Amino acid sequence: MHGFLHMFSNASRVVLASSVVAIPILTTYVFVQICALVAGGRWLSVAIGVLVGAMAIDFLTGIVHWACDRFGDPTTPVLGRSLISSFRDHHVNPAGILDHDWIETNGQASFFSLIALFVVAASIPSVSSWVGTTAATTLATMAALGAWANQIHKWAHMTEAPRCARALQNIGLALHPDDHACHHRSPHDRGYCISTGWMNPVLDRLGLWSWLERSLRRMT
Ligand SMILES: [Zn+2]
Ligand SMILES: [Zn+2]
Repeated sequence: MHGFLHMFSNASRVVLASSVVAIPILTTYVFVQICALVAGGRWLSVAIGVLVGAMAIDFLTGIVHWACDRFGDPTTPVLGRSLISSFRDHHVNPAGILDHDWIETNGQASFFSLIALFVVAASIPSVSSWVGTTAATTLATMAALGAWANQIHKWAHMTEAPRCARALQNIGLALHPDDHACHHRSPHDRGYCISTGWMNPVLDRLGLWSWLERSLRRMT
């Protein structure tokens, strides 16, 4: 796990730290733009976008987590060291996630979310249809929540999470420790979603993960 702490060079840490700092600023800017759309009467499109976005990003964290748990290994090119190894280490040493600072925890997700928020910020002024409004709000919500998915996951492992984190967990807006605990029981084959955690009961009950694995095995 400690190898992970030194996985970023100083130059990458500057980029990642800037992303973490920029996320709240750009998120605020985009949601002010979205508020203007609500004021213009498009509240239903925005409400649908927020709901779909929150479910979609939870689902996406589940897909990425599942893929990193089940495929490749820490020596896989590109993703091995940067992503797969941290997920694998997390099963061996769940508390290791608590050693990661803000940049290690949130830098990479913030970087990709920032790109998505730039796309939304640039496209909102030209959005005119309700479909466009819903799509922009969905992407904005995914980016705004996705940037903090690892932080939310980290909170789920803290015995003394900050009070605001516990409040978010208790009202169901952040992954609850009790709901995440099932992922840390062998064979780690459920509870992959680590944002709101809303999709876990749905996907686990549907048997999506075992179905995906069976389908992929049949194809290869
Ligand atoms: Zn896992
Ligand atoms: Zn965990």
